[in-house]
Amino acid sequence: NPAKSKYHPIKDACWSKGQAVPYLALAKTLEVIEGTSARLKMVEILSNYFRSVIALTPEDLLASIYLCLNKLAPAYHSLELGIAETYLMKAVGQCTGRTLAQMRSAAQRSGDLGLVAEQARATQRTMFAAPPLLARRVLAALRDVAAMSGQASVNKKIGKIQSLYVACRHSEARYLIRSLEGKLRVGLAEQSVLQALALACASTPPQAAGGQLDVASTMSPEAFKALVDEHALTIKTTYCECPNYELIVPVLLRDGVAALPEHCKLTPGIPLKPMLAHPSRGVHEVFTRFENEEFTCEYKYDGERAQIHVPGGDAPRFADAAVFSRNQENNTSKYPDVLRRLPALLRDSVTSCVLDCEAVAYDTETKQILPFQVLSTRKRKDAAEEQIKVQVCVFVFDLLYLNGRPLVRRALAERRALLREHFREADGQWKFAEGGDCSDEESVQRLLENAVRSSCEGLMLKALHGPRARYDIARRSHNWLKLKKDYLEGVGDTIDAVVLGAYRGRGKRAGLYGGFLLACRDAEADHYQSLCKIGTGFSDEDLRTLTETLSQHVIDAPRSYYMFDGAHAADVWFSAASVWEVRCADLSLSPAHRAAIGLVDPDRGVSLRFPRFVRVRDDKTPEQATSAEQLAQLYLAQDQVKNSAHRHVDQD
Ligand code: ATP
Repeated sequence: NPAKSKYHPIKDACWSKGQAVPYLALAKTLEVIEGTSARLKMVEILSNYFRSVIALTPEDLLASIYLCLNKLAPAYHSLELGIAETYLMKAVGQCTGRTLAQMRSAAQRSGDLGLVAEQARATQRTMFAAPPLLARRVLAALRDVAAMSGQASVNKKIGKIQSLYVACRHSEARYLIRSLEGKLRVGLAEQSVLQALALACASTPPQAAGGQLDVASTMSPEAFKALVDEHALTIKTTYCECPNYELIVPVLLRDGVAALPEHCKLTPGIPLKPMLAHPSRGVHEVFTRFENEEFTCEYKYDGERAQIHVPGGDAPRFADAAVFSRNQENNTSKYPDVLRRLPALLRDSVTSCVLDCEAVAYDTETKQILPFQVLSTRKRKDAAEEQIKVQVCVFVFDLLYLNGRPLVRRALAERRALLREHFREADGQWKFAEGGDCSDEESVQRLLENAVRSSCEGLMLKALHGPRARYDIARRSHNWLKLKKDYLEGVGDTIDAVVLGAYRGRGKRAGLYGGFLLACRDAEADHYQSLCKIGTGFSDEDLRTLTETLSQHVIDAPRSYYMFDGAHAADVWFSAASVWEVRCADLSLSPAHRAAIGLVDPDRGVSLRFPRFVRVRDDKTPEQATSAEQLAQLYLAQDQVKNSAHRHVDQD
């Protein structure tokens, strides 16, 4: 029975009913999770911690969830950690009588500043023991640190960090410093945290008299498992529609899991994680994937995803309208021009809505779509409308919410009909995505060529009717396929890789970085695995800007979770922060790279042949880069691999 775990954090860091949860209870839990590799076990350990919190101090459940996810607030509040390593070294060094140089070399030896901080704290004597840290206070302090900005705030930040650090006991220092760095490194994905919450709520229902009931012991294992699965589905679906723990947790505690769908719905103002598409490599494959399913083809515009929210009651409240990015960041202040034009888009019948769109740079004179590179020169924040040089046209392709009702479970055909009925195009400002419903390969091919001629990346193919045509929130779904112009017979898609390091340029590139080491992310192990070296596709201007922007992320030594061959050791290492889109001729197996190792071949990784830089993906976090699993799928889907297994061996 999964609820009957032997480990219980209370034994290690006790607190009594009604008392604030000690940070040590969470740190001890994270410590045990860090020493565990099995996901189910991690979930079980975390759920036991949540059960204790629910039963003893439910008001600390929210802080506990935030702390073990290393999040401070919903993504659209843009409050993030990620304090420069040097400041953290300074903070710890000053408290423990070590110079910056000593801290640097200790961190370099260990590859983990968190552990260094923990050891330094353990050997340090303090005259007066500071009061124990509390989970809720640590979260509040981390929020304060993240909210401080500007050069003058550095000392204030260091001071705040030090006041927390000197109160740390045992592994608290490790997780505190890692939290501040922006990465807990215990291997807990958000889905596991949600699963642990479901398991905890099934074992110890929060709304049942102080949550003391141990439901697991009163049910058969099969019935209990079914209950956990049902809870997990409800919690995960709710979180997709309403990704805000501040709304979810109070409902969970007051009314239980079953009440979530009614109280936490898709709501204008709270961005949802968008539906994403699977790559496909040819028109023929599209028909195989959709079998007898009817689908539509839309142009795939090359701009920036814009989720537009217009709240309202009897009438739309345009003043509160917002634009969110693919990652739920608030882009409202980037697009004042778009928001001002909203009344032109909405017909009188609309009182509130959420639209899924692509904002594309647009030449209003020639009525031409401009390349993504033009859009990327637009100011990112606080753009004053009169100073905006790059005009955009917004291509609307989906309607997710209309007049108080979520539409995500309706079929695309129905959503599209509602979109056309309640909204209208406006010249050079608002357009519906172009395309057509195709039933034969030839018409898809023709449409693809037209899309490319109209400066689009290719086509998006979407199921029109039935359950496959729902809007799959937060999923890279097979019900949306993308067909890009360049890779029809090759890899099928570009790769989004994480930049781990750089090699110094020579000759013409002296003084700049001349090449880079790229990686994919193994989500399971929480590692970055080397994928290829890249030195082509960059203009001189690109190299200058990249050298400058990457300098903010320089670290002293590769992290312990960077997997690479010694022969590829970079001259300069970076924290995993930048994601680049790259193209390649094909994917090959390489004894010298580590990407997807073990998934396709036990000893060789997947590598990119002839990689070329396409662009920086500012809208993606390293966690959203191409994963080891996706790479393995792309590798195996290649015709040459299908025809002769493992023929291409790249000696690199
Ligand atoms: P890509 O590198 O292909 O943009 P991605 O991971 O950002 O990858 P995908 O799911 O692969 O996202 O492709 C979908 C993206 O294409 C959307 O996020 C959206 O920004 C863009 N897009 C452009 N036109 C459309 C359209 N008609 N329907 C859906 N998405 C579209």
